[in-house]
Amino acid sequence: MNEILTLRRPSPSTSQNHAPFMDSDEAARLHTLEAYEILDSAGEKSYDDITRLAAFICGTPVALVSFFDRDRQWIKARFSSSTFVETSRDLPRTHSFCDLTIKQSDSIITVADMHQDPRFADHARVTGPTKLRFYAAVPLISPTGAVLGSLSVLDKRSRTLLPEQSSALETLARQIMELLEMRRTLIGLSEANARLGQQSITDALTGIPNRRAYDQKLTEEFSRARRTGAPLSLLLIDIDTFKQYNDTFGHLAGDSALQSVARVLLASLRPYDFLARYGGEEFVIVLPATDLSAAILVAERVRGLVASSEFPHRKLTISIGVARLDPEAGTKALVQTADNGLYRAKASGRNKVVVGNLEKIMAAE
Ligand code: GH3
Ligand code: MG
Ligand code: MG
Repeated sequence: MNEILTLRRPSPSTSQNHAPFMDSDEAARLHTLEAYEILDSAGEKSYDDITRLAAFICGTPVALVSFFDRDRQWIKARFSSSTFVETSRDLPRTHSFCDLTIKQSDSIITVADMHQDPRFADHARVTGPTKLRFYAAVPLISPTGAVLGSLSVLDKRSRTLLPEQSSALETLARQIMELLEMRRTLIGLSEANARLGQQSITDALTGIPNRRAYDQKLTEEFSRARRTGAPLSLLLIDIDTFKQYNDTFGHLAGDSALQSVARVLLASLRPYDFLARYGGEEFVIVLPATDLSAAILVAERVRGLVASSEFPHRKLTISIGVARLDPEAGTKALVQTADNGLYRAKASGRNKVVVGNLEKIMAAE
């Protein structure tokens, strides 16, 4: 393709070099463009097909779908017939053809012969003589009126478009806008989906992972432990006499105490430990790569931290059941063992750490 076209996809880092003065309309336009996440996106057949159709309908050897970044013209799709050899050039947007489209934003523009057109005089000075003469472009306008880019056709000979060709080019430009709107809707949906996904594994009151997240984590860590032979331990934590706290200070004070306990627990963890709200006033901590003696140390530290923390109305303590995974027995037995420890911690006076005993459970069953 002729050298006059700014066809290369310059790297974003080149953008700053020519940064022109930007007014607030231009800032708003760029903001709108960003929402489509189209700049530097991969090639897509739908856009390629449209350039092919545009060139065919208009009888031109070249058709382009371009978007106007802050200071570059970025080509999303191009059709060029085999007689056109491409040489690319990295030019600031102010010297690209399509800047004309931006400036005359609302309808098709046609330039029968660029060599005779004063609007291209400046351009020719920068790029040198060109073989291209004919240029027509339809702006791609967002529903909010921002000119995002253009659908353009070019030819080596001076010429014009028939009214039907102009109208077909405008129709194709509308199709591109439909594609872009669909793209933006999909982006919105996938963001909403990610937010929902995050919400579904987070406890609304404390902001820490919930029971569902814990189930996933335990399954993952169980497979890892089985695969690698590394130990895995679990702490089941229950706030002591919390019913009394609620009854005395009210449910809202209880909620805020739960949040505070979650914060203390979170602050006490090592980076790879995993805390979740198990339900009610119970929490669970998964301790990957941790054997029983290390798990007891962690549990003691956590218990001590809660006991020495200040809460709005009165002191709070926790009881903790500890268990280490027996890979042969599986995760259910791990939780049952920790639960057995917790039960015995309560029975022996609370504010205690007790290692669970699976044999006792088996004997009882
Ligand atoms: P223990 O030392 O034996 O664990 O006694 P406890 O009072 O903590 O145990 P119990 O199971 O009798 O009571 C738990 C209380 O935790 C009852 C319930 O009101 C309170 N609770 C559970 N979930 C929430 C919550 O989301 N918000 C508030 N405010 N209270 C909760
Ligand atoms: Mg409880
Ligand atoms: Mg309790």
